[in-house]
Amino acid sequence: IMMSTLSKSFGLHKIVKQHYLSLAKGAECQVTYIWIDKAGENLLCKTRTLEMEPAGIKALFSWDFQGKQGNRKITEVVLVPVRMFRDPFTLDPNKLVLCEVFDGNYAPTGSNQRSQCVKVMENVKDFQPWFGMEQEYMLLGLDGKPFGWPSQGLPFTADPCTVGINNMLGRDISISHYRACLYAGVNICGTNAEAFPTQWEFQVGPCEGIEVGDHVLMARYILHRICEDFGVVASLDATPIEEKKHTSGCHTNFSTKEMRSKGGLQYIEEAIARLSKRHSQHLRVYDPHGGADNMIRLTNQSTTSSFQSFSTATASRKVSVRIPDHVSRSGCGYFEDRRPAANCDPYCVMRTVIVDEKMGEK
Ligand code: ADP
Ligand code: MN
Ligand code: MN
Ligand code: MN
Ligand code: MN
Repeated sequence: IMMSTLSKSFGLHKIVKQHYLSLAKGAECQVTYIWIDKAGENLLCKTRTLEMEPAGIKALFSWDFQGKQGNRKITEVVLVPVRMFRDPFTLDPNKLVLCEVFDGNYAPTGSNQRSQCVKVMENVKDFQPWFGMEQEYMLLGLDGKPFGWPSQGLPFTADPCTVGINNMLGRDISISHYRACLYAGVNICGTNAEAFPTQWEFQVGPCEGIEVGDHVLMARYILHRICEDFGVVASLDATPIEEKKHTSGCHTNFSTKEMRSKGGLQYIEEAIARLSKRHSQHLRVYDPHGGADNMIRLTNQSTTSSFQSFSTATASRKVSVRIPDHVSRSGCGYFEDRRPAANCDPYCVMRTVIVDEKMGEK
């Protein structure tokens, strides 16, 4: 059933849509509110008309809606706009707006991890914390199999970064996503083909404080929308296909003002020492299933580290936390936590990295 639904939606003529999108309209602004679902993993959206373009995030009001809580019980839920982007699908002046979700008593719902994360960032703002996230994803066909792979085994053996149709699959998605993010105002800083054909990555950041989480979520939303148009599925699963050795992560890079300054390597090493003592606490929030996804992903093979124990090194990619080679050479910069899974809630990851920073305060 699912497959035929997917095919039908994709099969609609996209060129016909262009006619309607080109129709003249007045000053109205279509605003799409976007939020994380109850499971804390997927994104939801709905759109409304405003009389005119909002001047900024403060000009947008909250939107109540009937949320399903658990099985059937209906409660009022409130969407509170927190960051506004340009809409790369229906173009200016239309907006995409990321929202936090609150219950009827204005308490953050269980999936609203941002609310708490904002407070943590506020407490540590003197550290000037910067984050950068590397979002990996795998393109699947409408049959749930890796997009473009033969029915058995791997298509090609070459490094997907090698150009040529025999080496990579799905570049249209990556190119379109990159441009759409730039149009929207997402702080995307790069993209590359990943470890196996039809797996890709984009990088967001560095941004200070809460921002990177917002930008990663908007980049994910834009990715899923683009994939709708192309008729493929972008999977953020930690192990998206049956062969569990193909894994996707969301490496999280972090620095403070001290780490970025001359002699910062010392602060990086101190932070990593603190991280090493809290391995299991971190893994509990580095995927949306309490560590169950990473238990399968982090097998200590190829480019992943061990789920059981913490490891660190310079320039090695088979560790929990890595100091990039250029950071070690220049003596300052940032570190990379390679443990978060591709489907992680960015705010959970950010907050947990910061908790360690706070612990470092004397
Ligand atoms: P990798 O070599 O691990 O594949 P990438 O080039 O894919 O690294 O990604 C590097 C990430 O590091 C980007 O998301 C970027 O925004 C982030 N980054 C760069 N400098 C800093 C910094 N000073 N603090 C935090 N993150 C940073
Ligand atoms: Mn209705
Ligand atoms: Mn990378
Ligand atoms: Mn990668
Ligand atoms: Mn990385």
